[in-house]
Amino acid sequence: MKEKVRFAPSPTGPLHIGGLKTAIINYLYAKKTNGDFVLRIEDTDQNRKVIGSEEYILQSLKWLNIYEKKDDNFIKQSDRVDVYKKYITYLIDYGYAYYAFDSEEDLGKIKEKNKYFKYNSSSRENKNLVKNSYTLKKKELEELLKTDSYVIRLKTNADENIIVKDLLRGNITFSSNELEDKVLIKKDGMPTYHFANVVDDYTMGITTVIRGEEWVSSLPIHFLIYQAFNWPTPKFIHLPLILSPSGKGKLSKRHAEEGGFSVFPLKSEKMNIKEGLKESGMLPEALINFLSLLGWNAKNDKEIFSLGELEKTFNIEGLQKQGAAFDYKKLLWVNQQHFKQKSVSQIKDVYSEYILRKKGNKESYLDELIIQYGEEKTDKIISLIKERFVTIKNFDDEVEYFIKSPTYENSNKVITKHDENKSICIILLDKISYYLETEKLTSVDIKTFLFELSTLAKENGAKGFLPMQIFRLALVGDLKGIDLIEIILILGQENCKKRIESLYSHIKNY
Ligand code: GLU
Repeated sequence: MKEKVRFAPSPTGPLHIGGLKTAIINYLYAKKTNGDFVLRIEDTDQNRKVIGSEEYILQSLKWLNIYEKKDDNFIKQSDRVDVYKKYITYLIDYGYAYYAFDSEEDLGKIKEKNKYFKYNSSSRENKNLVKNSYTLKKKELEELLKTDSYVIRLKTNADENIIVKDLLRGNITFSSNELEDKVLIKKDGMPTYHFANVVDDYTMGITTVIRGEEWVSSLPIHFLIYQAFNWPTPKFIHLPLILSPSGKGKLSKRHAEEGGFSVFPLKSEKMNIKEGLKESGMLPEALINFLSLLGWNAKNDKEIFSLGELEKTFNIEGLQKQGAAFDYKKLLWVNQQHFKQKSVSQIKDVYSEYILRKKGNKESYLDELIIQYGEEKTDKIISLIKERFVTIKNFDDEVEYFIKSPTYENSNKVITKHDENKSICIILLDKISYYLETEKLTSVDIKTFLFELSTLAKENGAKGFLPMQIFRLALVGDLKGIDLIEIILILGQENCKKRIESLYSHIKNY
C-alpha cells in the first residue's frame, strides 16, 4: 500500500524547531517510501487559534523546500466540521460516546473537593456528581439536549488494558482506569483535537502517524476511537523530544534566549519573532540536515547530507527514542559544511537574497567587489572565502579588506607584541616595498621572496613568521583572512604597495 503521512500542526502560535523536525521526518519518510506528504491544519480550538500562524507554518515549510500548498495536499479541520458531525452520530448511536451537561464550574467544584476526580467509569454513573446520558432521566435528557449546551464524551471502560504499538517504542500498555472520558465534541459543536485527528487520519488514508513524543499520552484515546469505529489503526511513530543544550528538560524559548539562538525558523512581526534561524544565516538544507540528525543516524559516521541524500538514506531503523540535546554550535558547524559544498554562483544567490532581506539598509559588498575587481576575480575571491563561512553574515567580514583599505586600528596590538622588533618591522616593510616596485607578482616568486624575508627576520633576531604577519597586517589590517599569497595576487601590485606604505607610516609614527 502506498504510504501517506501528514504533518498536523495546530495554528496556536509560531511553528518552532520541534514542529519543524516533525515536518522534516514526515517529509523524508514520504520521500523514502515514495509516498505522499500532506499538511493538515488542526484549527478546531477557536480559543487558542493565533492569527497569522497558519501563514507562518506555510512560509516556514516553503523556506525549507519541503512543502508547497496545492489542492490535493492540504486540509484544514475547520472546513470539515460536517464530516465530524456525521461520525459522532455513529458513536452516540452505538454507545461509544455520550452527552454530558456539566459546566466548567460544576467540574471545577468537583475537582476542588476531590483532586483525584476523573470523569470516567469511576464517576460517570454517579447521579450525585455528574449530569450526563447515564445519570439523567430520559425526559430531562431530552430537554437539556434542546439547549445545545453539552459536550460529547468518549466512553471508556473500567479495568481494561489498552495496548498500542509504536514503531520506536514497541507495545505500550495503558490502563483504562487512568484515562478520562475525553470530550470529543465541544459545546460550540467543534470537535476536539482527539476526535478530529482520528477521523481525519482515517478518512484521509494516513498510513503512518509520525508526531512528537508529547502525544504518546493521547495514544490510548485515539486507539479507542479507532476501535469504536472498527477502523484499522495506522502505524505510529512518536519522535523523541528535542532537549535543552544541557540535555536536561525540553528545549524552550528560555534556553534559546540564554544560548543566544532562535528556536523559530523565520522572523515575523505578527508572531513577534525578531530573528529566526533564516535571519541568523542558516541555510535551509543545513537546518534540515541538523534537525534530521537530532534523534536519527544513518548507522555510519556520515553527518553531512544534502536533502537528496537524506531522501534516499533516511530510514526508521536509524531513529532513536531517547531525546537529543540541541547543540547550536553543531548547527553552525553543519551550516559551515554546507557552505563549503556550495558553488560560487549559489553563494552569490544566497548573499544577494540576504542583502535583499535587509531591504536596502545594507550596501552589497558583492556589487562592490564586482565594480573593483570584475566578475572573474570576484568569483575567485568567493571560491576562496566560502570555506570560511559559518553563516552568510560572514561574507562582509571576509571581503571587507578587499574593498576598503585597512585602518590599522588593531595593528598596535600586533606590533606591541613585537615591540623589540619595531625596527625590524620597518626593515621588512622597506624590503617588501622595494620588492613590490621591482618584481612581477607570481605565486612562485612571492613564495621565494617570503622565504628570503623569513631568513632576514631570523638573522635580525626575530621570529621567522614575523614577515608574514607584517605583510598580512599591512594588507588586511589584522591577522586574519585567506592565504596570504592569494591576497597579494588578488589585491595586485598597486594596492599592495599603497597598503605597505600606509602601515609603514603608521608604525613610524607609533
Ligand atoms: N495538532 C497536533 C500538534 O499540534 C498534532 C498531533 C498529531 O500529529 O497527531 O502537534
